Amino acid sequence: MSEGLSIVSYLGATILFILCLGGLSDQETARRGNLYGIIGMTIAVLATVFGPRVGTAGLPWIIGAMVVGGAIGLYAARVVQMTQMPELVALMHSLVGLAACLVGFASYVDTSTPLTGAAKAIHEIEIYVGILIGAVTFSGSLIAFGKLSAKIGGKPVLLPGRHLLNLAGLLIVIYFGREFLHAMTVAQGMTALIVMTVISLAFGVHMVMAIGGADMPVVVSMLNSYSGWAAAATGFMLGNDLLIVTGALVGSSGAILSYIMCNAMNRNFISVIAGGFGSDGSAPAKPAGGGSSEPAGEVTPVSAQETAELLREAKNVIIVPGYGMAVAQAQHAVCEITSLLREKGVNVRFGIHPVAGRMPGHMNVLLAEAKVPYDIVFEMDELNEDFPDTDVAMVIGANDIVNPAAQEDPTSPIAGMPVLEVWKAKTSIVMKRSMASGYAGVDNPLFYKENNRMLFGDAKKMLDEVLGSLAKAAA
Ligand code: NDP
Repeated sequence: MSEGLSIVSYLGATILFILCLGGLSDQETARRGNLYGIIGMTIAVLATVFGPRVGTAGLPWIIGAMVVGGAIGLYAARVVQMTQMPELVALMHSLVGLAACLVGFASYVDTSTPLTGAAKAIHEIEIYVGILIGAVTFSGSLIAFGKLSAKIGGKPVLLPGRHLLNLAGLLIVIYFGREFLHAMTVAQGMTALIVMTVISLAFGVHMVMAIGGADMPVVVSMLNSYSGWAAAATGFMLGNDLLIVTGALVGSSGAILSYIMCNAMNRNFISVIAGGFGSDGSAPAKPAGGGSSEPAGEVTPVSAQETAELLREAKNVIIVPGYGMAVAQAQHAVCEITSLLREKGVNVRFGIHPVAGRMPGHMNVLLAEAKVPYDIVFEMDELNEDFPDTDVAMVIGANDIVNPAAQEDPTSPIAGMPVLEVWKAKTSIVMKRSMASGYAGVDNPLFYKENNRMLFGDAKKMLDEVLGSLAKAAA
């Protein structure tokens, strides 16, 4: 492929990536956005592989690597459950970071195009910064993978003097950066690079280990952004314009997402990164009833038949799905119940919290998969004020996102986080298997409210029973 055709292909791919991001910003256009992304990536890969910079000698290696990588990707896409997607995404971010590190080291030892003066200095800065971002992304994403897959506990690990440790690490990295740029031999430069890589890897681990359960969404989107910048750094090292543009697109959209997540959690970005919010994901963070939130007490269980009756008699229903709906794969049953109620004239709407589930947009994806109409799916801000006029708020496998302690208990690890105010409905029904806490590990006073009912059991099983009762009554 000629140089000119390669440039035009890169330009076309860049435009398609921008259209892809634009499409993904809305559910109605997300499918089209994905298609643009797939076409753009196909053009980008073909233009790179058959472009002027890859000789025919390298082709068998590249095609071999693509076959192996493609087979692993295909296998993962078929076997990974929807609930494992967040950890898979974290693992993929780590691979982008690893790639940036490997390309950095390879670029440094590659002396096939000798550079001098300013060009050499710029190339070495690209290598140093690229490996730094790559190493932080790699180790940070691996820890995020461990936390999201519950292989590592959610409790923040706060080392004594952690801010000083981070500062000392930064100063050492700057010092060795200077040494690297002034190195007389490749061996000297390599020592500086290795020291910086080890410190960056340790920083990535330290940063994510210090984040508490409830703040993980911000970290996931932040690592998404880092992986973009790591790809952009790789683009600089390889002199590949498309990789620079694509990396910058991912980096900046990830940064915007982190900002949105921070707003959703009412958190300051810097304080989340400094760590320490949230608590252990396995047990209540403090004895139930502490602080100003309501004391733990009796809960009122309800049966599936009674739930169906409450729903049938309601005029306005708001359904709040959470992580448990994803675990139970209950979205199709939810959709069928919604259709039945709407046929009977009940106004059914969905309330989606920005951090519901385990990844941004998790609930929207599930509801879209089950073909719930988009026009009855609302963001938290759009219907939080409507709960007082709602007859039944049905919470399906959600916990932290409907926890009144966020508003009522200033000592709660989730204090200040906006939540869906389901307890303001005439009746709220919480569907879950036990009294266990959610991801943030905080007890939920909602369960003990007088107007709350607990429907204990697997969400799919319970919803099937509710559906059965509704269908029987309708027949
Ligand atoms: P939570 O983790 O707070 O609660 C989920 C609830 O679902 C659990 O209490 C569990 O209770 C219940 N559950 C689990 N399996 C089932 C099942 N089969 N049937 C019925 N219920 C079930 O989830 P939320 O969606 O309310 O909140 C999300 C949390 O995850 C927030 O703390 C958020 O910060 C965090 N997070 C979000 C990310 C994102 O990007 N969205 C990323 C990382 C973390 P029980 O065991 O009793 O059934």
